[in-house]
Amino acid sequence: MEIKNAEHKIKVLKEKLNYYNYEYYINNNSVVDDFIYDNNLKELIKLEIQYPELKSLDSPSLKVGGGVSDKFNKIKHSSPMLSLANAFNEKDLLNFNDNVVNIIKSNNVEYVCELKIDGVSISLIYENYILKRAVTRGDGLTGEDVTENVRKIKSIPLKINLPSAIVRGEIYLNKNNFKKLNQIQEENQEPLFANPRNVASGTLRQLDSSVVSKRSLDAFFYYLADARNNNVEKHNDALKLLRDNYFPVNPNNKICKNIHEVITFIKEMTDKRNDLGYEIDGIVIKVNALNYYSEIGNTAKFPKWAIAYKFPAEIVETKLLNIFPTVGRTGKITYNAQLEPVQLAGTTVKAATLHNANFIISRDIRVNDIVYLKKAGDIIPEVISPLLKHRINSSQKFKETLNCPECKSKLERIGSEVDQYCINNLCKRRLLRSIEHFCSRTAMNIEGLSNQLILKFHTNGFLNSIVDIFELKNHPEIINLDKLGQKSYNNLLTSIEKSKEKSPEYLLFGLGVRYVGLKSARVIIKEVQNLNNLFTIKYDDLINLPDIGSTIANSLLDYFQIESNVKQLKKLIELGLNHKYVNQQVSDLFANKIFVITGTLTQSRDYYVNLIISNGGKISNTISQKTNFLLTGNNPGSKIDKAKKLGVNIIEENYFLEQLKLSKEQ
Ligand code: NAD
Repeated sequence: MEIKNAEHKIKVLKEKLNYYNYEYYINNNSVVDDFIYDNNLKELIKLEIQYPELKSLDSPSLKVGGGVSDKFNKIKHSSPMLSLANAFNEKDLLNFNDNVVNIIKSNNVEYVCELKIDGVSISLIYENYILKRAVTRGDGLTGEDVTENVRKIKSIPLKINLPSAIVRGEIYLNKNNFKKLNQIQEENQEPLFANPRNVASGTLRQLDSSVVSKRSLDAFFYYLADARNNNVEKHNDALKLLRDNYFPVNPNNKICKNIHEVITFIKEMTDKRNDLGYEIDGIVIKVNALNYYSEIGNTAKFPKWAIAYKFPAEIVETKLLNIFPTVGRTGKITYNAQLEPVQLAGTTVKAATLHNANFIISRDIRVNDIVYLKKAGDIIPEVISPLLKHRINSSQKFKETLNCPECKSKLERIGSEVDQYCINNLCKRRLLRSIEHFCSRTAMNIEGLSNQLILKFHTNGFLNSIVDIFELKNHPEIINLDKLGQKSYNNLLTSIEKSKEKSPEYLLFGLGVRYVGLKSARVIIKEVQNLNNLFTIKYDDLINLPDIGSTIANSLLDYFQIESNVKQLKKLIELGLNHKYVNQQVSDLFANKIFVITGTLTQSRDYYVNLIISNGGKISNTISQKTNFLLTGNNPGSKIDKAKKLGVNIIEENYFLEQLKLSKEQ
């Protein structure tokens, strides 16, 4: 490459990386996938090695983090908080080892391997045995004062046995709490969080520390500054000292006698990685003997006595055959990708989400592009970016859809939201989706009214609104629709009649008011006691309720501003749907028993919460001495170990359901 071209390339890469860093570290937002970020950085480093005269001091290859936000007080670190150099393969690890061996002139280098927790780094300063300050890494030299927020994280000791200490580690959100948080977001129809790391970073850097208490952040610690002042000579002993001082230290650390043992450990952990209850993005390898550290030294960005092995991303390439929008029950438009089938993480993937038009435009994704595709954990496949080198010249830039793919009415954006909406209440797809939601298990639980049946009834003119569900009894002729006999019809009517008795929070949730999830519906209904009171409720009444913010309050009030919505609810009440709050406790089976739920269950978490509460039990998010039962699904994570340690009864999902059934039959 000519130097002029290299200069231009370096400029573009620097601009891109600075932008990605700012968004990632200051706004807690991943504009591109880590895989793309790492590739850009690798390319920049390669060019800077090739053309050292083009390397400047402001290069992102030399800088730690993305700066310090003005929202917080700035605190200077007593010693820099550095990043870590990356190893992507065995060769990189062997090079790292060669470098260490050359400097300390000994072939026997003992290492400590630690999990690389995917969270956000923190430095804790203790004075007079007490936690004085907690500071983010910031730009490595200066960080943000987040002391008030860190005090809310239960596993962080506020008092230790050392008179003074600087302790560093990683704050993270475990997979279960991440999943729960996104379930709540989904229920409230709010955007989902992309990954636990962004939530941890965003939560830690909130101005309102009550948000931190709600989100159950956790931490692991891996560094004690000036450890040798405490008569500690090895990193491994420093970790022990931290453990003795009540700091959570990850139990999966391993002492390795040489770099080959390190490589074996990495292979073992690569297999176990998905079984952990929290996300890791690699393994950190550190020289164990602390006396070598000053000899081995640091660069401006990272220590040379440690390296981070990064796990390869589960990413594949495939062809994007088509981009098509679909409309959901709230009218929200989602763009989807039709793909040339490809194997990814054990399944054949033919479709993936492209989220919204902005996502596609910002990444310049086009039909016929070869694209990178990834699937992380339980998350549905996502197109990351196009591979520009394979782009065909004739490819067309993507243009957002202006009309609803179903009813063709003009799409709109609400306020500053990125999503487009179909606002036509008569839109067929929206209508079908909203009826499906109303009948779903978490809402009115109308058994037998499947999505196929809803479509069939609608196509034959029997089901054009939620109200029509309760008029189906007046249409005995529907038994003649193919495959639906008298028996199924009778069962369906019984199930519709049964749903009428439910406490009205299910009805309110089933109506699909934006942002009103089952939990908020329950809070509101418990307060108003009677659905009729909703027609006259005021903003101030709502906003004072626990967990009801201005978004939910305004959305509910807006909903009842629309005459057809008021009419619909009045009609449902007239048709005999229960409008009075029912205290849900149906039995004392679990009276005052505290349950913790963990793992992936075959039915929604809400289903089990309801079941437990309605039988007198209580739900908690964390296991303690007070917990009576841990209800587990697949991949239960770390809670199971804690439950065993504390002697908490562990009940597997199927056994729980069987026992419940038996006790009801008695
Ligand atoms: P890093 O995350 O690769 O490694 C350094 C950090 O690892 C430390 O600061 C520490 O916080 C953490 N860590 C976790 N466990 C540790 C342990 N046991 N011992 C020591 N440290 C441990 O480096 P970085 O500078 O924080 O971030 C760079 C990475 O962040 C990139 O490689 C990329 O993956 C990601 N990133 C992504 C974007 C994006 O837009 N997607 C932008 C910027 C950075």
